[in-house]
Amino acid sequence: MDEVLLRDARLGDGRRADILIRDGCIAAIGTKVPVAPDAPIIDAAGCLALPGLVDGHAHLDKTLWGTPWHSHQAGPTIAERIDNERRVLRALDLSPKAQSARLVQHMVARGTTHVRTHVDVAPEIGLANLHGVQAMAESQRDAIDVQIVAFPQCGVMIRPGTLDLLDQAAREGAQVIGGLDPVGIDNDLKGQLDAIFAIAARRDCGIDIHLHDRGEAGAATIEKIAERTAALGLRGRVAISHAFCLGMLEPARLERMLGLLHDNDIAVMTHAPAGGVPFPPIRLLAERGVRLFTGSDGERDAWSPLNSGDMLERAYLLAYLSGFRDDAGLQLALRMATHGGAQVLGVARHGVEVGAPADLLLLEAENEAEAVALHPPRRLVMKRGKVVARDGVACHAGP
Ligand SMILES: [Zn+2]
Repeated sequence: MDEVLLRDARLGDGRRADILIRDGCIAAIGTKVPVAPDAPIIDAAGCLALPGLVDGHAHLDKTLWGTPWHSHQAGPTIAERIDNERRVLRALDLSPKAQSARLVQHMVARGTTHVRTHVDVAPEIGLANLHGVQAMAESQRDAIDVQIVAFPQCGVMIRPGTLDLLDQAAREGAQVIGGLDPVGIDNDLKGQLDAIFAIAARRDCGIDIHLHDRGEAGAATIEKIAERTAALGLRGRVAISHAFCLGMLEPARLERMLGLLHDNDIAVMTHAPAGGVPFPPIRLLAERGVRLFTGSDGERDAWSPLNSGDMLERAYLLAYLSGFRDDAGLQLALRMATHGGAQVLGVARHGVEVGAPADLLLLEAENEAEAVALHPPRRLVMKRGKVVARDGVACHAGP
């Protein structure tokens, strides 16, 4: 038996207790927990124990993390950003495996224990990025669980060959099929959705669609996604990332959308975009029972230099941009960065509770609300009961 005791941790409800970890799982929580005499003891010194952070939307394969500063050059439209990114990545010729490993070690040091990453799949790059990220995930498997979305960043119907690559990516281990603005990028709502849903159904994959299309184009896309989710029996396995349109619809139209999302158990990811970009009213979505999660999106890449890969900071930004000040709002933001993401990724049990894997972090805060407000340094991060980071530095070796 492999035991370790976290002594004097603070729980989410404010209680102080010891946490006994046995064979990678939380075996007991209490004040008088029996422990093997030779078991190592870690003094939590009253630090708050939070469940491992879940980055539900990253782009690990194309980060510029750890490389010299790259001044942002892209124009404001999605199409301009896609073209600019292709130019930048061609010129820099970075290794998806090495780059994703660099970023993942930073994320682990900030307390992330699970990540869903959208990996570019396109005719000009084939499956090279998928293979690079898969190799990284294997090398870092003791520190973080990685779930891969095969992501058609350059479009689907406008890029012949992409559908075959998505299908091949699913056969080679991508767990989720991505999509991208069926109206705005492909100008073929039915074509893109029929095609990616067919792959997901055939290969037993989930779906996670980037939907930046605003207003009615976005709303019409949500309706068609809901139709196919119901028809193919994919309830609970479909997510929409960004869904900017939900931040700008008339109340009655918005309620219709929230009903469809709830009834078909379609999850919504928002990372609370900056610069006045509309995003879903997350408290209303939560009240309507829509599943919510969050992620970093592109971390220091050709799309933006600003996202940091710190999911506690992300929870803060969700709260900040949503205007939350009350504890319930701050806790909702944290939940999107922990349990919400874990549910979408299909993690069976997640939390500081007996029976769950010991994926957790310690930090100095009185409670969850203060953890979000201050997003203080992470003292310690554990993955399946092993310490993977201390004082902001990952213990795990590089690629
Ligand atoms: Zn994205």
